[in-house]
Amino acid sequence: MKFFILLLSVILSMSILDAVAQLPVNLNFNIQSASTSEQVLTVSNRIDTASLPVKIIKGKMDGPVFSIVAGIHGYEYPPIMAVQQIMAEIDPDKLKGTLLIVPVANTTAFFGRTVFYNPADGKNLNRVFPGKPDGTISERLAHLITIQIITRSTVFLDVHAGDAGEDLTDFVCYYDNKNTPEQTDLARRLAEGTGFPLLVTYPFNLAKTEPAEYAFKHATQQGITALSMEAGKLGGVQQRSVQQIKTGIYNILRELDMYASAGKPVPRPVILNRQHYLKSPEKGIFYSDLKSGDTVSKGQKIGMISDVFGKTIADINAEQAGIILYKIGTPPVNKGETILCIGYHCTAK
Ligand SMILES: [Zn+2]
Repeated sequence: MKFFILLLSVILSMSILDAVAQLPVNLNFNIQSASTSEQVLTVSNRIDTASLPVKIIKGKMDGPVFSIVAGIHGYEYPPIMAVQQIMAEIDPDKLKGTLLIVPVANTTAFFGRTVFYNPADGKNLNRVFPGKPDGTISERLAHLITIQIITRSTVFLDVHAGDAGEDLTDFVCYYDNKNTPEQTDLARRLAEGTGFPLLVTYPFNLAKTEPAEYAFKHATQQGITALSMEAGKLGGVQQRSVQQIKTGIYNILRELDMYASAGKPVPRPVILNRQHYLKSPEKGIFYSDLKSGDTVSKGQKIGMISDVFGKTIADINAEQAGIILYKIGTPPVNKGETILCIGYHCTAK
């Protein structure tokens, strides 16, 4: 009998835990105009808990909701540091509309100093959107961001950098979603005005029911104007990239008529509407004298891979001419990994 009572209480407490885990955690979005609010949302399952810090800056006048998310990858610091400055600088009295800012989306990865993956469940948060309300902790966190942030956005911006092993040149990007021409046109206009030297456009051919995996791709799929910025590299905090992100955000705010800032006319970016991903044929140690931002021609030698004893096992040559957007910037390389991504322009439709 005692055993059954014990069993019953275990089952009961598990279902209570489950109920707690299912509780929706909502952002209190209705704050006074010309005010700010800092809130921390949480999601949990039986094993893990994740928190999502959100700062709401509500302007004096009504206007669009512009969401800025940093730290979906917790080891990409320039976006996180740029957003720190933005939060301190914006005066709600001068703002039209609402800024919804997530300063660090993946706090577990950030404080755990893990590259790409959430140490709690080993998942890449930017591969599980739109997330699941009853999934692993990363899937639940993605679902929380989807419901609380993305769906509220007029414009959604997800900011990234080159992670610890990635040598990356700064660029702004959006999906060329032909299904929503108005939103795509606004994304193009905002991206062109950011002041980033390179503008990358990705093709969009995702079915309505297919999981988008990436946060800003999901926003695009839902018909929201969405952009991403990539600035900074190799897990460092490059001040030039921090400033580039800030300038880009202020330029978007000005373009949306949300905030009057002393912006200056920006040069038109170089537009790269195609990407070529060069995959590693081997596992080993990668050598290359090239760096991100370099221009390469087709067939040009990129570098080589040796085994751990130093014997050359593969020569790496460019399969496509263009600009190196990012490449592996540290020695280890695994078979099948992207060694580098080349951006180029194609005039064909
Ligand atoms: Zn990232």
